[in-house]
Amino acid sequence: MTTKNLCAVLKGKGDLCLENRPVPVPLPNEVLIAVHTVGICGSDIHLWKHGGIGNFTIQNPIVLGHESSGVVVKTGSLVKHLKPDLYWKLNQRKHLLISNFNEKLPSNVSLEEGSLMEPLAVAVHACRRAEITAGKSVLICGAGAIGLVNLLTCKAMGATKICITDISEKRLEIAKTLGATHQICVKDVDTKTAAEQIKSKLGGSPDVTLECSGAEVSLRLAIKVAKSGGVVMMVGLGASEITIPIIEATVREVDIKGIYRYANCFPIALELVSSGAINVKPIITNLFHIEDVHKAFETAQLGTDGAIKVLVRCQLT
Ligand SMILES: [Zn+2]
Repeated sequence: MTTKNLCAVLKGKGDLCLENRPVPVPLPNEVLIAVHTVGICGSDIHLWKHGGIGNFTIQNPIVLGHESSGVVVKTGSLVKHLKPDLYWKLNQRKHLLISNFNEKLPSNVSLEEGSLMEPLAVAVHACRRAEITAGKSVLICGAGAIGLVNLLTCKAMGATKICITDISEKRLEIAKTLGATHQICVKDVDTKTAAEQIKSKLGGSPDVTLECSGAEVSLRLAIKVAKSGGVVMMVGLGASEITIPIIEATVREVDIKGIYRYANCFPIALELVSSGAINVKPIITNLFHIEDVHKAFETAQLGTDGAIKVLVRCQLT
């Protein structure tokens, strides 16, 4: 059997292709994983469309896919906490070498759900840094995958009033089914009006705002509507430089915070899902085979037919 190791490789702006790459051999502290399912992230789309994100520009071709689940097929000599799965060894299709930053999935968490653990870990980190606690009122800007995992995490952490905004009614409908207490469509709505609507729904300004859209207008709204002394957490990434009402944030002591991925949040994300405190399945809307990766990226970018989290399946079996 010739082993296929199809990889989605981004060579620069708009230049995404499939390559069959040699299967790597794990170093002593690495594991070889047969990747099963990979989620497409907003940052993957950004890299594909713009050839970079923030200070990072693609110089050399990169293999995309950081929201992955898979099966260990080989371990380096120093790896003790993970073991290869023999059944999968026979059925492997695609290998990817990654270091031992891996978490074992509990038996009641599927590989599809497993691919959502990375964005869920982002939400856990954001909500912890934003100090979401029982009874807090929260505004979430953006009802895409990241907005929705933040919604689920806020609820699990005890937030009681959660208002979510988006420009898509379809996404807001899904947010409602996932437990948002209020939804506001901000398409063609000016900042002042949107702020008034949010305050009337929440009965005042939100304690915490999680900005998950990356849109400049949305961050401005987040600062304007924030409670004095409240928190605005920047989760979504957009343009690298934008204009915001900084004096308003200063004089009203609004804490503007950012996150860089997560720290020690995967075990918590796994516990939230395996315990049933969070159900990520409704966020998964589309599944493509890796050979249709271009279609998958287009669907994720355009949000075709209400697409939220688009997954790419790397295994044929
Ligand atoms: Zn991501």
